[in-house]
Amino acid sequence: MIIIGGGIAGISLGRELSKRGQQATLLEAEDELAYHTSGRSAQQLVLGYGPPAVRELTDLTVSMLESQQRVLDTPVVWPSSFMMVGTDAEVDTHAYPGQIHQGASALHAMVPELRPQRFTAGSLDTRSLRIRAIAMIDWLVAEAEHLDIRLGERVLDAVFENGTWSVTTNRNTYTAQTVINAAGAWADPVAELFGIEPLGLTPLRRSAAILEVDRAIPMDRCMVMKIGGYYYRYEDEYAVLASPQEAKPSIPEDAKPRDVDISAMIEEIQADTTLRITGIRNAWTGLRTEASDGVPVVGFDKRQGYFWLAGQSGYGFQTALGFAKLAADLLIDAKAGDWVSQQAVTDLKPSRLR
Ligand SMILES: Cc1cc2nc3c(=O)[nH]c(=O)nc-3n(C[C@H](O)[C@H](O)[C@H](O)COP(=O)(O)OP(=O)(O)OC[C@H]3O[C@@H](n4cnc5c(N)ncnc54)[C@H](O)[C@@H]3O)c2cc1C
Repeated sequence: MIIIGGGIAGISLGRELSKRGQQATLLEAEDELAYHTSGRSAQQLVLGYGPPAVRELTDLTVSMLESQQRVLDTPVVWPSSFMMVGTDAEVDTHAYPGQIHQGASALHAMVPELRPQRFTAGSLDTRSLRIRAIAMIDWLVAEAEHLDIRLGERVLDAVFENGTWSVTTNRNTYTAQTVINAAGAWADPVAELFGIEPLGLTPLRRSAAILEVDRAIPMDRCMVMKIGGYYYRYEDEYAVLASPQEAKPSIPEDAKPRDVDISAMIEEIQADTTLRITGIRNAWTGLRTEASDGVPVVGFDKRQGYFWLAGQSGYGFQTALGFAKLAADLLIDAKAGDWVSQQAVTDLKPSRLR
């Protein structure tokens, strides 16, 4: 098999196939893994976030991560709660399943920097986790012993003949019976190289920044997400990681942050909280790629030997191990095991978008 894309999706699948004794070649255009969206996330796994299939696969991924990482000396995930904040009406409308409602006094006791006149309620998820994304990727790569990772190999062309794909990169030609498209923001253009009809996946810009603050917030402070606005969370004793949560359509590219998005976020945080932002240490932008229904795509195309693992939107890490397991079931056994609901398998099928 050939996997196209060395982000969290392609690497997780490569490791899952390896664990099942399957050889695969992973082709990554850049000279390093996780250079694009997977190297730019907020590193939070939020249970209850997203459509039902995402929630189910997030739950499974979190359980798998919690148990599988026990073999590691340093954990790649740890508990880190998550709070949505807004007016009572906003919280009632937008709370995720499984979150616990917080009235004004509980909310302000827990997050004292929020201005009481701006926020009257919260919705707390105590099962959410933080990850170290690069450590997680290193761990998955170390366990992918049968995965041949080829960096700096951009797929440029493909031909299907006698049941076999010949895939040409800038350096080599590879052959395989099955190709997996895990190309993130490039998933549709990569499909077109194979003569496959695109699914209408749209890359959406999302920026984040490490903001220096005038006072330390505690390390165990929950991540705070303003409904319809920014989020921020502890980064270190001098800084928070924050995102304006914009979702602007983009071409597939090496996206860069725009000053206007970061400045507007800083203004909003300073208006809503008593935090003062004293500096911007670093800012970046990644592309979250979404199907028209917001549900990721995991499954075979109608065209023989072509598999989609794309459209992970803002859920790529939190679903990674579950999607890899589902993809490996479908690729090797041609059906999903009973550990996942048939409804989720159906919701994720690419055919729904044709
Ligand atoms: C600011 C921000 C915050 C986020 N926060 C979270 C979070 O807290 N939790 C969470 O779960 N998710 C989060 N996400 C989403 C998550 O990062 C993505 O869902 C995930 O990284 C997508 O992974 P991927 O492997 O599909 O794509 P990518 O990481 O983009 O990998 C695709 C790879 O394919 C390669 N490629 C493309 N074309 C070719 C070609 N022709 N030949 C060879 N290789 C090719 C690219 O170079 C790229 O490396 C966030 C995203 C952003 C932008």
